[in-house]
Amino acid sequence: MNCPTGKNQYSTKLLAETSLIDVHIHRNFQPDQGPQDVYECEFCGEWHFTSKSPKRNERLQKMIDSGEMRRIQQAREWE
Ligand SMILES: [Zn+2]
Repeated sequence: MNCPTGKNQYSTKLLAETSLIDVHIHRNFQPDQGPQDVYECEFCGEWHFTSKSPKRNERLQKMIDSGEMRRIQQAREWE
């Protein structure tokens, strides 16, 4: 089912989180840029990104805190 929000849909939270991290890597976002978290949609029951979350997704936050996000982003810049 398509969602009336028009956002990309992910069937599970895990999948949405993995894609969230992927987007940060591939678009080379600063931590506060781009989508920050995922949420379960009240319309379609699937998962979407949100850019206006008061807090950052836990998995994304851990990758940023550990420096892993920057390392992966920088490794990609040299490809
Ligand atoms: Zn939806």
